[in-house]
Amino acid sequence: MLCLGIETSCDETALALVRDGVVIADVMSSQADVHALFGGVVPELASREHYRLIGALCDEVLRRAGVTAADIDVVAVARGPGLLGSLLVGMGFAKGLALATGARLVGVNHLHAHLLAAGIAAEMAYPALGLLVSGGHTHIYRMESPRRMSLLGRTLDDAAGEAFDKVAKQLGLAYPGGRTIDELGRKGRVNPAMFPRPYVDNDNLDFSFSGLKTAAGLVVQANPALIEAARAVMTGSALSADASNADDTEPDSTLTDVSSLCDMCASFNHAVADTLRIKLERALARENGPLPGTPTVAARKKRKKSGAVVVDAGQAASPCPPTVPEHAALAAHAGQGGEVPDTHRAPVRALVAAGGVAANSYVREALGDLAMRAGLPLLLPTPALCTDNGIMVAHAGWQLASLGLWHDLALEAIPRGRSIPDDFTMFRSV
Ligand code: ADP
Ligand code: MG
Repeated sequence: MLCLGIETSCDETALALVRDGVVIADVMSSQADVHALFGGVVPELASREHYRLIGALCDEVLRRAGVTAADIDVVAVARGPGLLGSLLVGMGFAKGLALATGARLVGVNHLHAHLLAAGIAAEMAYPALGLLVSGGHTHIYRMESPRRMSLLGRTLDDAAGEAFDKVAKQLGLAYPGGRTIDELGRKGRVNPAMFPRPYVDNDNLDFSFSGLKTAAGLVVQANPALIEAARAVMTGSALSADASNADDTEPDSTLTDVSSLCDMCASFNHAVADTLRIKLERALARENGPLPGTPTVAARKKRKKSGAVVVDAGQAASPCPPTVPEHAALAAHAGQGGEVPDTHRAPVRALVAAGGVAANSYVREALGDLAMRAGLPLLLPTPALCTDNGIMVAHAGWQLASLGLWHDLALEAIPRGRSIPDDFTMFRSV
């Protein structure tokens, strides 16, 4: 089965071809440069760029794979969540192609596609616990199959990637800033007490990163030297951390020492990674039982009151089933292809993390440690497949089509903020 995947949900126009689960070609055009001028994505510009590029990129991916449009069996397209105008460009193109060639149309949930990308290099084990951390979302899912994922927790305000991008903007680093903060942090030293672990002293699975973003903003405001250092990074006049630490050579006095900036970035990366790990560990405790040696929420609060720096684990006191109000909240979360979980379900067999922030080296390390302690495999897409791409849509579309699922031409694009309906038509029993 040859599946074409089309991704236009935000600022990447990306297409890929997957044949029977094997990636055979992909192309991508990022609009990051266009939007960098404005410090964030401008929706109208994004739609126009997709419209300008999609036809040529489709020709190119077919050419690279040595196939023609008539060879395509399935056209998979990211149907949402995303920017409505951008989604409509991809959807219109996908529908036209499906109509012209007779290929099946499959609308793919962009968030599910991110998580399923972890199954490209390794075999996915279901049920799994999935952490989706991107520019727009920070979600924890229980993944039952490529189709069925129930949402267990979500961000109440900024997503983790958004916090990275906003802190980078305050520093004056280029958009999107997550990768730069990751790279600078690798050259610095972590101060675990510099930033809080936001919204962890509770027993839910939701996130809130706006406080951490504000804390980082206050550190930047109080230290104008950090902005100077960021400017030096941008203009290539930064003294490398290695050179400033070496005592045998005289450092070049025209270059700016950026070691405090690197330390701040290291501490910020660490705070985000630790917060994600705490909540994923709590979700795992609910699914499979607590890991030995981790403090309860009550113990964590007590240590915090005593003035101790709390930087390690924090999780629910017991693997308690969801309470009645939690059930109501989960029901409200349902819709993302989700459903209210039953309390007698199978333990999860793997941890999955995906989305742009899953490319972060601190996040990968923190989740790797958690997986090792839990004795579970951690499935991560390669860093290049963490951010938006066409391969993940083609791969997800191929999996859904293999289950006999497809859509008709009435398929709707779903903007951010609305639930994605599970409205597949089945073309054979599954
Ligand atoms: P979306 O689907 O919401 O557009 P993506 O999944 O494409 O988001 O991820 C983009 C986000 O990932 C941006 O916020 C970017 O800053 C962040 N990001 C990318 N690489 C890294 C990294 N190495 N460390 C932290 N954040 C990163
Ligand atoms: Mg994405």
